[in-house]
Amino acid sequence: MPLRNVAIIAHVDHGKTTLVDALLKQAGAFKASAPGQECVMDSNPLERERGITILAKNCAVNYTFGPDAGEVAGQEFRINILDTPGHADFGGEVERVLRMADGCLLLVDALEGPMPQTRFVLGKALELGLKPIVVINKCDRPDGRPSAVIDEVFDLLVDLGADDIALDFPVVYASGRSGWAHRDIDVRDNGVHDLFRVIAERVPAPQEDVSAPLQALVTNLDYSEYVGRIAIGRVYKGVLKAGQQVAVSKADGTVKKARVLKVNRFEGLGRRDVSEIRAGDLCAIEGVADIEIGDTIMDPDNHAPMARVKVDEPTLHMVFRINDGPMVGKEGKFVTTRQIAERLERELRGNVALRVSPGDSADEFRVSGRGLLHLGVLLENMRREGYELTVGKPEVIEREIDGVRSEPFERVSIDTDSSSMGSALELLGSRGGEILKVDQRGARMHIEADIPARGLIGFRTRLLNVTAGEAVMHHSFIGYRPASGSVKKRQNGVMVGNEAGTATTYALLQLCERGIMFVQPGDPVYEGMVVGENARDNDLVVNAVRLKPFSNVRDNKEATVVLKAPRLLSLEAALEYIEEDELVEITPSAVRMRKRILRESARRRAERSARDRAAAVAGADD
Ligand code: GDP
Repeated sequence: MPLRNVAIIAHVDHGKTTLVDALLKQAGAFKASAPGQECVMDSNPLERERGITILAKNCAVNYTFGPDAGEVAGQEFRINILDTPGHADFGGEVERVLRMADGCLLLVDALEGPMPQTRFVLGKALELGLKPIVVINKCDRPDGRPSAVIDEVFDLLVDLGADDIALDFPVVYASGRSGWAHRDIDVRDNGVHDLFRVIAERVPAPQEDVSAPLQALVTNLDYSEYVGRIAIGRVYKGVLKAGQQVAVSKADGTVKKARVLKVNRFEGLGRRDVSEIRAGDLCAIEGVADIEIGDTIMDPDNHAPMARVKVDEPTLHMVFRINDGPMVGKEGKFVTTRQIAERLERELRGNVALRVSPGDSADEFRVSGRGLLHLGVLLENMRREGYELTVGKPEVIEREIDGVRSEPFERVSIDTDSSSMGSALELLGSRGGEILKVDQRGARMHIEADIPARGLIGFRTRLLNVTAGEAVMHHSFIGYRPASGSVKKRQNGVMVGNEAGTATTYALLQLCERGIMFVQPGDPVYEGMVVGENARDNDLVVNAVRLKPFSNVRDNKEATVVLKAPRLLSLEAALEYIEEDELVEITPSAVRMRKRILRESARRRAERSARDRAAAVAGADD
């Protein structure tokens, strides 16, 4: 049966899930599944909530063309559809997924046009020689502007250095939601067969040298409690059979012998146990214990390792530690170092860009990942599973490259209204951003800049503040560059509670005149907890649990004063907010910020000795 491997590239919300759903439904892959099942590729609830795809997934359909399908009429094709992660924190994964494909669908919203994230993944696809098929999606939108969007895609491809063949891209006009996709912009009947046909005709068939010695490249890992590690990859040459002996080339150049227990191929949304996988097809392999990404599975008598695919190195780390605050164990089920260690251990099996090493003390772990989102998603998952922990300020990982201290840089794009553009530019400048371009797009302004990843920590919250919530931003990792100067710290001090209890309206009414509160009446508060932001730059120790002194005189004034709404920080916003001497406390029911040292007296002592040390160093330099 002819085979096609196609990757799908789309910006978040441009309708990838809905379109793939329609493809699966119309190919009949859905017959066996429950009615009403939708949004099939983003299966993790957290991914769906945030509109991002974190773990790239594959699915496969068999499609039989009707008699009027020209060259492919009457033929049944097997099509592997490879989902690319929708966020550039997962850049390494993008590349590995694309390596398994022979072509790509670039899905673009008919109104929004190509977005920065598309740019990053598309650039990678072009580098790997994949020719795009452009799908203008949501063509049912009355406000769509498909022709202009095609021009923008063309410009983007030119910008990315696409060759003439790539620039001669086929276009399909689609509405995934209405279930149609056509080459003719004016046709809107029910059916996506045009899209299947373009895939069959324009995506090159994989090389299928089945008589050559076996060569399969592992590009991803999965894990199951029953069978352990599962290698996902593509067979490039030969045939991989269940039960066969193989040789595996490792990163250090050695070759190990192993036996493949089972091989699966992708079918619909799942996998099916098969007796063999032939060259060109994708597979999931069970039974090879310590298999790694980048390994080549080879014929035992004929070793020909393929070029290794790389896993991106982490660019950001955080300290994960036990919750040693006074509320420990009140809200979560898993609180001990051992439980956290086991959970991280489990995560490492499938989360290939994650690294965990011991921290400074026995209760700490240094956890490194691809960015705030990557680690934030892990923390959010842990919290939902019942874990309690505290984490320190995220820090970028510097590296020495050719003797030069270097740090990760990101390309950021910001869309905002013209009135707040100045504030956005100013903020970028203060964070070490270098402005690349500023364009007008309709009534909105579009800014692109390169910025040290360090400058992006805490950026989103500030950007929303200075643009009154108007700005939309995206960023993607571009690489390491020589470290730039320092980036400013948080400008405001915080209000720190000095007593345990329950926050009272009376206390908060007084405190909110000095800044913004993070807690509301009734919230539990403890000594050392960050309860608000001071309008000034110093930290304030405050009492948020004070009760109104008893008096016989009825105070009408208080009854009428309305407490300002507190600022409730999300997990990621809290991670971005804290400074080095602070922690985020994460439990199933709350995200709180606190000082690392809870007791005021101990904190003062620590601050004093830090100052003394700094003075001693300065003195020694003189
Ligand atoms: P993904 O993030 O790219 O996977 O996008 P989804 O498939 O989850 O769709 C994002 C949003 O766009 C949802 O609110 C969908 O209802 C909507 N949407 C998806 N496809 C279409 C379409 O063809 N037309 C219109 N008008 N909206 C669509």
